[in-house]
Amino acid sequence: MATQQIRGVAPDLLERYEPVIGLEVHAQLKTASKIFCACSTRFGDPPNTNVCPVCLGLPGTLPVLNRRALELAIRASLALHCNVQESSRFARKNYFYPDLPKGYQISMYELPLATGGWLEIEFNGARPDKTGTSKRIGITRLHLEEDAAKAMHEGFPDSDRNSYIDYNRCGVPLIEIVSEPDLRSPAEAYAYLTTLKQVLEYTEVSDCNMEEGSLRCDANVSVRRRGAEKFGTKTEVKNLNSFRYLQHALEYEIERHIGVLESGGQIEQETRLWNLGAGRTEPMRSKEYAHDYRYFPEPDLLPVRVSAAWKAEIERAMPELPGAKRARFIHDYGITPYDAGVLADTRALADYFEAVVRAGAPAKTAANWIQTELLRRLKDAGKEISESPVAPAALADLLKLVESGQITAASGKKVFAKMFETGQPAQAIIAAEGVSQISDAGEIERLCREVIAANPDNVAKYRAGNEGVFKFFVGQVIRATRGQANPQLVNDTLKRLLG
Ligand code: ADP
Ligand code: ZN
Ligand code: MG
Repeated sequence: MATQQIRGVAPDLLERYEPVIGLEVHAQLKTASKIFCACSTRFGDPPNTNVCPVCLGLPGTLPVLNRRALELAIRASLALHCNVQESSRFARKNYFYPDLPKGYQISMYELPLATGGWLEIEFNGARPDKTGTSKRIGITRLHLEEDAAKAMHEGFPDSDRNSYIDYNRCGVPLIEIVSEPDLRSPAEAYAYLTTLKQVLEYTEVSDCNMEEGSLRCDANVSVRRRGAEKFGTKTEVKNLNSFRYLQHALEYEIERHIGVLESGGQIEQETRLWNLGAGRTEPMRSKEYAHDYRYFPEPDLLPVRVSAAWKAEIERAMPELPGAKRARFIHDYGITPYDAGVLADTRALADYFEAVVRAGAPAKTAANWIQTELLRRLKDAGKEISESPVAPAALADLLKLVESGQITAASGKKVFAKMFETGQPAQAIIAAEGVSQISDAGEIERLCREVIAANPDNVAKYRAGNEGVFKFFVGQVIRATRGQANPQLVNDTLKRLLG
């Protein structure tokens, strides 16, 4: 891929330095209960109501693995082309923090659930034509772990003196997905996270709600001289919970790394935080190493065994993935890759599009109307596709009327606006407002003659060879009918009369 621009970094520096990025993504699994106990995972419940002796780490309690969490983790692994290990194992990662009541986090360490996968990103950023290129990003590992509690240091009247902790989140099931250091720009990192989020949503592994913290990202970044084989020293920016922060933090770090190296300094390997208000990363702690955590196998849990039969069963039940859906849309419906990308953005939108086509609308027309008329109105109304006031079959009915010439596309759009507003079917609106297309040849000829008679100057221009004024005549006739005249008939009639 060609050198990409990075905001804030001088292009000549980017010709000499190459950024290297690897992401560690945490996604909350869509389970009703926690990973090792039966407590609810519901978001937004009153603090410290979804807790029990197991997730609070009281003595004498035993964790039991949630089978559904394991199943979802296997599904994610397979969707990301990873090898699911026959045998994996939980470990204890020991450290103290008030959000970790046991004094350790149960996480997979030396025997992760799955390894060696990849995710293909479609990278459009560099090209204005959006045809883009694609690139495979390696996935090092995918493993299961429990979330910690939520410490709240701000927002209370006594926050200057006290902190609060909500243990509801303690023990919520997570998968951690670690990428290879294959990403080369903030834009590629953005594309990777977007694509990964889409796969996790399609497979219903996670709802990936970033505001609720169910998708979080740590970014590892370094720079090296272009052409150098060895990677530079990396820093890790923790807990980036939005796409924008990820990009901004990476831009900032890349500029900082290059600045340090250019001035003859060295990058300290460390963990940093994104300071949102100041728009910069700040040191949080010096880099910790695996041995600092005194990992050892979790004695209270058996090794995790995944049979070939179970894996095959999960594979069989796998929904169609975004890439396959896009390819099928292009092939089956003859729509452009760009349109396929928009329509397959979410499963709900893709299903809507296919339902419109199944109800009899031509695919390309459906693709256009959904992308322009429907998505724009949904966005303005702040609605999801699932809340669309126009059902797929109702849109198909309207498009069939347009396609058969019973109403013009222009009136169709007005009818659609009314359908969106009122939820009424197209036929009812057309009957009430009298917007059927005017295809009466006599009526159209009368209107054409009127327009010609009223514009002798333009008639002269046209006859002198100025073809451009033809559009003027068409426009006048269409306007006289408030957009309801059959455009083809208007064209033919004018051609004949202007001769
Ligand atoms: P650590 O031991 O610090 O946890 P890992 O090797 O486990 O490091 O890698 C953690 C993440 O950092 C991975 O996503 C990996 O791709 C990325 N990474 C590793 N080395 C580099 C580097 N030099 N520059 C950028 N990212 C890197
Ligand atoms: Zn519990
Ligand atoms: Mg690591």
